[in-house]
Amino acid sequence: MNEIKGRVINVSNRLPILIRRHAGGARLERSSGGLATALEAGWRDQPGVWIGWAGTGPGENIEPFLVRAAHRRSYTLRSVALTEEETAKFYSGFANEIIWPLFHDMPSRCNFEPEYWEIYQRVNRKFAKVTAETVQDDDFVWVHDYHLMLTASALRQAGVRARMGFFLHIPFPSPDVFEKLPWKKPILKSLLEFDVIGFQGDRDRSNFVSCLERLLPEATVEHGTPHLLVGQAGRQTVVGTFPIGIDFEAFERDAERPEIAAHAAELRRRVSDDVLVLGVDRLDYTKGIPERLKSFRLLLRRFPEMRRHITLVQVVVPSREEIPNYKHLRRDVELLVSQINGEFTEPGWVPVHYIHRNLSRNELLAYYRAADIGLVTPLKDGMNLVAKEFCAAQIDERGVLIVSEFAGAGPELRSGAIIVNPNDFAEVAQALYDAAHMSVDDKRCRMRLLRQIVKDHNVHRWIRSFLQAIPCAGRTRGGPVGDSQESVAKAKERPQSTMPGLALVAAALTPASRSRYAMGKDAKLRMMGRAAGED
Ligand code: UDP
Repeated sequence: MNEIKGRVINVSNRLPILIRRHAGGARLERSSGGLATALEAGWRDQPGVWIGWAGTGPGENIEPFLVRAAHRRSYTLRSVALTEEETAKFYSGFANEIIWPLFHDMPSRCNFEPEYWEIYQRVNRKFAKVTAETVQDDDFVWVHDYHLMLTASALRQAGVRARMGFFLHIPFPSPDVFEKLPWKKPILKSLLEFDVIGFQGDRDRSNFVSCLERLLPEATVEHGTPHLLVGQAGRQTVVGTFPIGIDFEAFERDAERPEIAAHAAELRRRVSDDVLVLGVDRLDYTKGIPERLKSFRLLLRRFPEMRRHITLVQVVVPSREEIPNYKHLRRDVELLVSQINGEFTEPGWVPVHYIHRNLSRNELLAYYRAADIGLVTPLKDGMNLVAKEFCAAQIDERGVLIVSEFAGAGPELRSGAIIVNPNDFAEVAQALYDAAHMSVDDKRCRMRLLRQIVKDHNVHRWIRSFLQAIPCAGRTRGGPVGDSQESVAKAKERPQSTMPGLALVAAALTPASRSRYAMGKDAKLRMMGRAAGED
């Protein structure tokens, strides 16, 4: 793949496979989650090595499993063994009780336990050690996500000379939020040891630059084309925006299969032959599930004529159940579901169908195909692949996507989706009402546009564009680049367009379709007028 002479060494917290112990032995499973799904799809035919945790501890002989897993893949797998303490304090602790809530703008949910930081450093060194043993000078090391932000400094200390990149799959917060992190400077400094840093969106990249400006004023920022160049301690890092995509063709092809079509038709018969709204999320407080349920309740309260005609299927995938915040969330969601169903259920109609389990890919595809409205309303999200998968599976072009302005997918899909603020229950309720009443032509036009965007900006393009940024990175550790604070300010002002050619596609929308969202906004204002005192 272009300028890389050697192999790509992917490093992520989890491998794409998981070895699960049970009474009779162990079995090999596929890892779930957005990162593993996207990378697996994009990496199918690339030679290289994938380094990560396979769910196992030190002293376990898992080599036969890794060899077996590599059989059907173009790359080999190497595992990093973690003790139970490390899993608890590095993964659940530092990564998911500190960085996850902080980077999603929820500092009050953080548990700044100092021991977590110790273990985070130790585990990052462990990942770096396995990587250093694997890598050769002409390889490219691609580190993924917030679990491994310190690996670059550990790798450089180990004398690794290969070029290295880092992609952050989650949002990057503004300086006012980031600076609450007690260990902010070592993290920023380590990130700048990478040759390339990628973010999901322009907002994330701009926040990162603002953090550098405030916390590492000695760093310089220069506006290159198309990425920024950050100079620090005599080295140079390319900083870019690379919104992640999905394997569109695979989703489309699978959604077209007759058994998926039959399953989707069956779901429509059994769940709702009228408007079926679909929410699919890990059970995570960033996904805005209680807020979404309250919006749906508001819709049913304000528009009684919608009752019996609209049904919400909410899939929640169990997640991080060992962390207290997640346990409480489950209780809140289930209480709301039962309240709504208690308030509105009538013979033959249950307003909210609640599914608390991991669906198979086929089941998920059938729901995507069956749904009339995809309701994706996270309070904050790096990208949200569900939004893109919903579009890819909408081969009948019947569905409407409602997406949060605070998901990475929001800005990317705004020309075809209805964009909402998930904290504005009235706006979400109105968007549901508008989507349910949208004309067939408008829906088709919008969905066609969305599918074109998701198809063009697929996972293969994401990988290509990230790897193409490497040559811009300075292998020679020259003097500071960039000029001054002025260049920092300019860099922040000029967001990179991630959608070349989008204007052309958008022009294909009918005037009626383009005005639809504006109508929704006006209607919302009218509705807010009459809404005082409700909810
Ligand atoms: N997913 C799944 N089974 C389910 C529900 C979701 O495998 O029952 C997958 C879904 O296809 C998507 C991923 O989980 O690829 C969720 O990714 P997203 O970016 O939306 O959110 P994340 O969970 O990574 O925060």
